[in-house]
Amino acid sequence: MCAFSMAASHARGKGEVDAVFSVLKKANDAVARLGKDKVVNASIGAIFDDEEKFVSLSAVNEYYREMPAEELMNYAAIAGLPDFLEAAVDFTFRGYKPENTYIKAVATPGGTGAVRHVFYNYVEEGQKALIPDWFWGPYRTIADEHLRGVDTYAMFDENYEFTLNSLKEKTQELLKVQDNLVIVFNTPAHNPTGYTMSMGDWQETFSFLKKCAEDKSKKIVLLLDIAYIDYAGTVEETRGFMKLFSTLPENILVTIAFSMSKSFLMYGMRSGALIGVSTSQDVAQEFFDINAYSNRGVWSNGTRGAQKLLADVAKNPELQAKIDAEREQYTKLIKDRAAIFMKEAKEVGLKTLPFRAGFFITVPASDPKKVAEKLAQDNIFVVPLKKGVRFAICSVPTHKMSGLAAKTKQAME
Ligand code: PLP
Repeated sequence: MCAFSMAASHARGKGEVDAVFSVLKKANDAVARLGKDKVVNASIGAIFDDEEKFVSLSAVNEYYREMPAEELMNYAAIAGLPDFLEAAVDFTFRGYKPENTYIKAVATPGGTGAVRHVFYNYVEEGQKALIPDWFWGPYRTIADEHLRGVDTYAMFDENYEFTLNSLKEKTQELLKVQDNLVIVFNTPAHNPTGYTMSMGDWQETFSFLKKCAEDKSKKIVLLLDIAYIDYAGTVEETRGFMKLFSTLPENILVTIAFSMSKSFLMYGMRSGALIGVSTSQDVAQEFFDINAYSNRGVWSNGTRGAQKLLADVAKNPELQAKIDAEREQYTKLIKDRAAIFMKEAKEVGLKTLPFRAGFFITVPASDPKKVAEKLAQDNIFVVPLKKGVRFAICSVPTHKMSGLAAKTKQAME
């Protein structure tokens, strides 16, 4: 921290080195020094093909480039273009819309913007949101930036099996000291582990939360971060549990962070939506009003071109089928890469967290920094987390997957 600060007290001392982008820089430096054939860059959560080229969906890219300037450059509505909001809801549920609920949506700059609104509008200042212990780093930053904190629940037991025990304990603990509680779930295809909660996990979660909500002074908000949903299985596998939302009381609100970043491989276009689902019309209307107000107060409106694209795709089944087919190809590419790692991990006795799908595999480690450093000496670049190292298999070409598990095992010895 500098000795003399001009900053307001709440901003003083802020600043962080981004964990992912700093490893990416090291990987890029190694590529510049040695050539890309000698380097495994497993740092960044973006898809690269087997020639290590950045991947976009060509149907999306082509459609976007033909859109008229007016649709690309003009402002969008503050809450989002109405047909975009409709499309965002359709893409989120894809036929698994919960019955007897009121569903509203507000456009946000990606899932990040959606997380921001939920943390700010549903957690009291100074109180905590409950997030998983393996988590996407920005959750903590976003909470901190808005004068909120986080507490964590353990996702796995000592055998690395998924458990709800810790979530239940932490929920009860926090509800003793705060009336508003936001609980974050990042599923399917959780970042960084690749875990996907099952229908059974969800049924147990909801029956527990409904008990907690019998005390009507408590307001429980689920934040469902579905950034990787379209790489995690069939529509039924990934959305089936959403039907359960129709059984919730009015003091349990479901919010969903919908993102175009991965689903349409448009990361930098910054487009997504916050979707709210409630059995109460009043709660749903309040959700819309306060979050649209936040849009005006934080970033005004979102990226019109990206919104228009989604709205048009939703009205064009042929284009949608093309995009789905292309995405399916990349889902398979990542799945094949994961299969190599998981098979070899088993063969060499390397423990991983329970991977089901998605962009990442994580290996638990007692000294993740040391493991990452040792791997870096071998020109393998992974992100060290608090309790493990993360492999972004989305960015490693298939021919470089073989041998990674064995090298990781060695680095841990
Ligand atoms: N949630 C998780 C778990 C992520 O990994 C990401 C992106 O990496 C996001 C949300 C949000 O991404 P965006 O703001 O680009 O939609």
